[in-house]
Amino acid sequence: MGSCSSCSSGNSPQGEGCAMAGNQPGNAAQCPAQEDKLKKALQRIKHKILVLSGKGGVGKSTVAVNLAVALALEGKHVGLLDVDFHGPSIPKLLHLEGRRPEVIENGLALPIEIEGGMKVMSLGFLLQRQDEAVIWRGPVKMGAIKQLLTDVQWGDLDYLVIDFPPGTGDEPLSVAQMIPDADGAVVVTTPQDVSTVDVSKSITFCRQLNIPILGVVENMSGLICPHCSQLINLFKQGGGEEMAQRMGVPFLGRIPLDPQIVESSDQGRPFVFHHQNSESAAAMRKIVQPLLELS
Ligand code: ADP
Repeated sequence: MGSCSSCSSGNSPQGEGCAMAGNQPGNAAQCPAQEDKLKKALQRIKHKILVLSGKGGVGKSTVAVNLAVALALEGKHVGLLDVDFHGPSIPKLLHLEGRRPEVIENGLALPIEIEGGMKVMSLGFLLQRQDEAVIWRGPVKMGAIKQLLTDVQWGDLDYLVIDFPPGTGDEPLSVAQMIPDADGAVVVTTPQDVSTVDVSKSITFCRQLNIPILGVVENMSGLICPHCSQLINLFKQGGGEEMAQRMGVPFLGRIPLDPQIVESSDQGRPFVFHHQNSESAAAMRKIVQPLLELS
């Protein structure tokens, strides 16, 4: 992939970069040439949906993948962009490990297209090995994200689902500032207080950045027993919904803790596609309904 010709965009491992952009968290995409390129790259995408969570491990990437696939199952043209540095897990979740995006003219990269036509781009595709840790310094990380946003030829898309870094620190802040016209955020939590407290911070984060909140997803909400298919309230239920009410934001729905989701994810098979008749898949499809209604 290329870099901004006017500012060399801070992609070097040494972290050198554009004096105009500053390349500091919080100063993302302020180089005019870069901004213009970003605008052009994103203008053929109708809806940009950010998937956020207050902490890691709550199923944010799993939800991002399944929401994207559920939108594709509704006949939409969908892209999925993974900018989660701490665990770019989308390649694993879609069995795309080791794949490299094709680079075409002008240094643009083509996203990897999976069965059904969904297009995927991940920071994970830029790593040499699956177990490689991303220990780049902040400016280099931001350079890589800028490239993922500006130098990928998505084509015309109805939806771009973006799997964000967790938390409310510098990384999600910088990424959010690079996508100024996002339709909004889907915020993923688990039902326990320890997660909802952090997720309420994600909501405050969105408010401070003027990112509309599309709603809260309560993931791992009750366990479907693999033996009797009854619901067991393992991590309790309703915490995400209560928090959404308290914060005055929509509640999109709950997805149970379902052993088949783990199995399917480990196999790189999107659950909502491969288990279409399950209750958990129905829950995922219900969650995308408000997203389908975005004008
Ligand atoms: P995050 O992106 O928040 O770090 P992941 O999406 O990587 O979380 O999910 C963490 C683990 O939890 C994965 O093993 C995934 O398969 C599992 N998981 C996510 N959601 C569910 C669910 N509803 N039921 C069962 N396992 C789940």
